[in-house]
Amino acid sequence: MSKTLLLEEMTWPEVEAAITHRTTTVVVAVGAVEQHGPHLPLLVDAVRGDRLAVEVAGRLGGALVAPTIRVGCSEHHMGFSGTLTLRRSTLEAICIDYAVSLARHGFTRICFVPSHGGNFGPLAEMLPDLRAAVGPNCTVDAYTDLVGFMALWEAALSETAPELLDRVGGHADIAETSEMMCIRPDLVRNDRAVQGHLQTFDEELRDRIFSEGFRSVTPNGILGDARGATEQIGRACIAHAASGIVAALES
Ligand SMILES: [Zn+2]
Repeated sequence: MSKTLLLEEMTWPEVEAAITHRTTTVVVAVGAVEQHGPHLPLLVDAVRGDRLAVEVAGRLGGALVAPTIRVGCSEHHMGFSGTLTLRRSTLEAICIDYAVSLARHGFTRICFVPSHGGNFGPLAEMLPDLRAAVGPNCTVDAYTDLVGFMALWEAALSETAPELLDRVGGHADIAETSEMMCIRPDLVRNDRAVQGHLQTFDEELRDRIFSEGFRSVTPNGILGDARGATEQIGRACIAHAASGIVAALES
């Protein structure tokens, strides 16, 4: 038996044996390479996706993890240098090719998990096409509730640092910065962690970000406040996010 959950780290006989022994689910994180404020690197959503997929697969049981799709739909972050973005049609083509490849090897359930806000809408929209592409012997699910996801981070803060709850804003904030202190602490510029645009993340703010672009809402790229991030808060954010996503996928 292979010890890793990562498809990329396994040999083909290990993958074949895993599928034969009922490891029939595979998790695919859909991340981004985009601005994350003055204190975090562009790869945040890519490496958060790597971690989230492993946490989700472990909780689902009988699941492996496909390579994270590192670049996503980030048009609304293009006002900031370095951001890469895929057209929706490009992301859909990649997701379909992932799903069809995985289904052909015998996986019977594929779960797409976005680790970047801009991928939730495109994933919800492409889901019927993904399901049609893999055929009747495989089910495709995706977690697509962006506003609901914020509640998971808020629950983590309520548990670990309730006095800092209003710093959760949804992007490069205390929650995301804390997750990075767990995942890649070497890349967190804590001395540059500052406050960004403070507003509850609701449907109205979500729609404004996608229509007007991030930079018109928050000049420094942060939604919420990045100050006060800790590894302990990060562990809680990762655990709540993974558990909440698994609960939604299983319902
Ligand atoms: Zn992010």
